[in-house]
Amino acid sequence: MAQAFSTNKSADSEVWLWHKHLGHLSFGYLKKLLPKLFIKLSNSDFKCEVCELTKSHRVPFQMNKNLTPFMVIYSDVWGPANNVSLNDKWWFISFIDDHTRVTWICLMKSKSEVGSLFKQFHKMIATISLYYTGST
Ligand SMILES: [Zn+2]
Repeated sequence: MAQAFSTNKSADSEVWLWHKHLGHLSFGYLKKLLPKLFIKLSNSDFKCEVCELTKSHRVPFQMNKNLTPFMVIYSDVWGPANNVSLNDKWWFISFIDDHTRVTWICLMKSKSEVGSLFKQFHKMIATISLYYTGST
């Protein structure tokens, strides 16, 4: 883990300790919360590798502006799982709306249920579309 570039070892240790205890709180907020820890230290001297890796920013997800909800749905069937679920289901099917990224996951006892689940899902989407747009 990265270390601070300060000569005040005990204050450094305390800052690191609080940083970790508070779930890797940013050093700027830590300075506001516990200003006495930073009397001879600057929050910019501290660089935490864990924070840099886990809190790194990524390119924001771009919604497809050309589509409306439920226009394109992706589906995937997965299974059989290594462990059975509590209600004896081994297979999964997911439906993802391309526009909103809303995801539905259904569990199945066997892969043969895909057809009926797809019909149920289609009926549900048609009902929701009717509610929002007033047409099918
Ligand atoms: Zn951290």
